[in-house]
Amino acid sequence: MHFEYERLSALDKAHLWHPFTQMKDYMGADPLIIERGEGVMLYDVQGRGYYDGFSSVWLNVHGHNVPELNQAVMDQLARVAHSTLLGMANVPSIELATKLVQIAPPGLNKVFYSDSGATGVEIAIKMAFQYWHNRGIPKKKTFITMNHAYHGDTLGAVSVGAIPLYHEVFRPMLFPAHVIPYPYPYRHANGAAGAMEETLERLRTLLKAKSDEIAAMIVEPIVQGASGIVVMPPGCLSELAEICKRYDVLLIADEVATGFGRTGEMFACGHEGVSPDLMVVGKGLTGGYLPVAATLTTDEVYEAFYADYEEQKTFFHGHSFTGNPLGCSVALASLKLIEDRRVIESVGAKAGFVARKLAGLTDWPNIGEVRQKGLMIGIELVRDKAAREPYDWAERIGVQVCMRAREMGMLTRPLGNVVVFIPPLASTEPELDAMTEILVQSIRDVT
Ligand code: PLP
Repeated sequence: MHFEYERLSALDKAHLWHPFTQMKDYMGADPLIIERGEGVMLYDVQGRGYYDGFSSVWLNVHGHNVPELNQAVMDQLARVAHSTLLGMANVPSIELATKLVQIAPPGLNKVFYSDSGATGVEIAIKMAFQYWHNRGIPKKKTFITMNHAYHGDTLGAVSVGAIPLYHEVFRPMLFPAHVIPYPYPYRHANGAAGAMEETLERLRTLLKAKSDEIAAMIVEPIVQGASGIVVMPPGCLSELAEICKRYDVLLIADEVATGFGRTGEMFACGHEGVSPDLMVVGKGLTGGYLPVAATLTTDEVYEAFYADYEEQKTFFHGHSFTGNPLGCSVALASLKLIEDRRVIESVGAKAGFVARKLAGLTDWPNIGEVRQKGLMIGIELVRDKAAREPYDWAERIGVQVCMRAREMGMLTRPLGNVVVFIPPLASTEPELDAMTEILVQSIRDVT
């Protein structure tokens, strides 16, 4: 076993380039190499177990190695692993599209598949752009995004991204987008009400002046994830949607992180009864098993593309693995488990349990704010609580806390100074109890 670890870690360092990772740091540490998973636990090649405290980057729903999901993949594997959706169909992709339409906010009747959140966003952007073109209004071609937005790493998604550390270097090769603030109550002089009002006012002003040039607005509904689990004040999303509708600007809801129960509703838009024009889902769609994403849209958008071929209104977009049958089968099995096990209904009680466990943290000197929506939790660490002064980014305080948590047997990743806790939705109370204990202790040890 030991020899196997040495062998794998040498090959890992020799050949793998890891995402979102400074490889120079990686070379200096002992890599964590996962070999298997069971429930909410992941086990490394040396046999050590870790709670999956970030759901393997926010996507695991039912835990790992779930018999029903394994079976769904195997059953489909015995039929066909892949066949294309270009001009033809396969059975699971039809069944899944039908199911998605049933559970999505009203009006989203059409499903276009892809293979990651970023490609799902890419499709939404291109669809929105071509929708206006096909309708003979090509002037509507720019986009609105929100400060610190993250929508994935392909170039369209980066164009509507607004996290300087990730996105600025690529700016010369991107299309420009209008950026309005995402309401961030903790860091707004006038708290939640002031933050929300500023966002809405900025949107109204922009649309009053330029709605005839704007194709769509993209938003992470209710929770902005990668910026640090920032939760919108209640009512903000529905107001945003209302303003976009009034000014004839399409609304794209990026539910890649928030979808499938993560915030306590099937989709975060459901908290405020919002039906966007386009909705992107990924991550938890397959329970976190396989790379499938989908962009859902309305009949109205679809019909703008529906024409005689000669009119050149076809949506020329697709990926080799669009609508992969293995992925669609496991997504169907995951959605069945969500229903059978009443997963969404259980999130409220679990979220309440976690909130009670973390309640005392707000009094700690280096904790600025504990933010939570369902089982999406972010703990913002600050150097000076009274002044709300952040730690210097170079100190990488979040990384230190997460490394300490790893030593104690739980995996998670920080977002700058924000420690993230996003456990699988299937976690039981005893598991959540153990995970929050590690979380709290690791913050105590480091700050
Ligand atoms: N959109 C949001 C809101 C996300 O949080 C993410 C990933 O974290 C993405 C899009 C990109 O998804 P993927 O990593 O599957 O491309």
